[in-house]
Amino acid sequence: MYLKELEIMGFKSFSDKTNINFTKGINAIVGPNGSGKSNITDAIRWVIGEQSVKALRGNKMEDVIFAGSDKKKASGFAEVTLVLDNYDRTIDVDFNEISITRRMYRSGESEYYINKTQCRLKDIVEMLMDTGIGKEGYSIIGQGRIDDILNNKSDGRRIIFEEAAGITKYKHRKAESEKKLEHTENNIERLEDIINEIN
Ligand code: ATP
Repeated sequence: MYLKELEIMGFKSFSDKTNINFTKGINAIVGPNGSGKSNITDAIRWVIGEQSVKALRGNKMEDVIFAGSDKKKASGFAEVTLVLDNYDRTIDVDFNEISITRRMYRSGESEYYINKTQCRLKDIVEMLMDTGIGKEGYSIIGQGRIDDILNNKSDGRRIIFEEAAGITKYKHRKAESEKKLEHTENNIERLEDIINEIN
């Protein structure tokens, strides 16, 4: 699996629709300071569900929407689509290409799509779990992240290894099941109280 294409529109400095095609292997993005190189990695983080404004180098989430310039008026929404080549079925769905889209309006509301079908952020997070691409994955190593990893407490490092080993998905499902179990146990307790009252 590899990142095949990125389509950016109204996101940060990218006011017009911009398509970036990547090839298998190493790709480099070069350009003068302030030309938008980091905005491209921000777009990748954002489309896969980044909710932290700090991680996206802003003060509020609206900062990701093109703010306007001398020649162009501000955009009403930001939209990013990431296309993954899934020919090798790294992601267990029967598609050779998977597109993930996020659109956000100035109201702060975000819409998510997988292959142009609207979905929940949860669907994207679960689909990318254990692929290394997820928000907490190790495929995007930002400036300073290597230091973070090396200085990280053992718990933080463990999260990275668990993602690489492919067990994040199961830990996530276990936590969800435990929550449901706890809910059911509470219900049983409440029912027992009611039964005792009736008797
Ligand atoms: P460097 O090499 O210095 O790290 P860079 O190429 O990585 O630079 P970025 O940080 O990606 O550059 O881009 C910064 C530019 O993006 C700035 O000119 C900034 O004004 C612009 N920018 C950021 N957010 C917005 C926005 N919401 N609307 C318009 N422009 C924006």
